[in-house]
Amino acid sequence: MKTLVLNVDPHKPSVAEIQIAAKIIQHGGLVAFPTETVYGLGADALNDDAVIRLFKAKKRPLDNPPIVHIANASDVYSLVTEVSSMAELLMTTFWPGPLTLVFRRSANLPKETTAGLDTLALRMPNHPIALSLISQTHRPIAAPSANLSGRPSPTTAQHVYEDLNGRIDAIIDGGATKIGVESTVVDLSCDPPMLLRPGGISFGALKKVIGNLRLHPFVQSEVELTLEKTSSPGMKHKHYAPKTPIIIIEGNVEAIILKINQLIKIYKLKGVKVGVLATDETQAAYHTDVVVSLGSRFNINTVASNLFRLLRKVDSEGVDVILAEAVPLEGLGLAVMNRLRKASGYNIIKV
Ligand code: AMP
Ligand code: MG
Repeated sequence: MKTLVLNVDPHKPSVAEIQIAAKIIQHGGLVAFPTETVYGLGADALNDDAVIRLFKAKKRPLDNPPIVHIANASDVYSLVTEVSSMAELLMTTFWPGPLTLVFRRSANLPKETTAGLDTLALRMPNHPIALSLISQTHRPIAAPSANLSGRPSPTTAQHVYEDLNGRIDAIIDGGATKIGVESTVVDLSCDPPMLLRPGGISFGALKKVIGNLRLHPFVQSEVELTLEKTSSPGMKHKHYAPKTPIIIIEGNVEAIILKINQLIKIYKLKGVKVGVLATDETQAAYHTDVVVSLGSRFNINTVASNLFRLLRKVDSEGVDVILAEAVPLEGLGLAVMNRLRKASGYNIIKV
């Protein structure tokens, strides 16, 4: 299959170009598009064949449902059985934006779209291209991240191209995404509500609106947990992983620097090539083959926006092992550490 690339201005999306993409989705095809978090791979959420094609293109396990994207908050009502006042409050506060809400689903969707679950994850993205595409398609769009399953999520059209060229119909190139980590997922089908995946909206910001929100134990886990019955199927799948092994070093900054330099020495003696994922404040302290900075430790939003791009970058530099500094868990730091720990397969050294 030839993958068409459409260049679209993210500030003023051309109606004609978006029409081409919308037609492809209406005919059961697959189109990758930018959102404010990461690039999504879109299919008509009401078309079971299209959704099956979506899973196949990503090589995604069939038990891990995509998030369904809508362009108007009012579209929620036909897709779910009940919208509580708490859900409405979250929708008016955070939509459009990087918050995904899990509801009990209505019968209006094919079972493939929710991987057989009786719940549905919904989000209204805050990106002119995404909103225009959904509106012009006149359907809800199922859109998981536009990467091959298990790889770091794509934050540029180039990343999507690397993973999915020849496997999907089109890519809308609207430049780099702003937030860089995926949406926060909150399950409203249980009481009290539960944060299943940390992401673009922080736990603290959500707690200000719904006081009794709980964090799922998976979110902050430092070890691989096994779940009998997963509340979010994505939790149990390997994620975000570069091909090169990663080790995360966690502790205070001075101790992290010491440990990483010790490890670099040991690896050098063995002829092992080392890459370091550092920060602006620490990068000069390391003397090894490849050192990249995620940004300032004092600007966690920049760190989040650089994370997946730099995971792909160090992975392409031909190093044998990647040593990554931990960052504080505040704000988007919780999402960053959750992705890093998963990417490492919970290969963590505490100092
Ligand atoms: P992605 O679309 O790649 O960002 O991943 C979507 C995430 O949402 C995955 O972690 C899914 O497991 C999660 N998800 C999708 N549908 C549901 C649902 N009904 N209940 C809980 N989590 C869900
Ligand atoms: Mg994903």
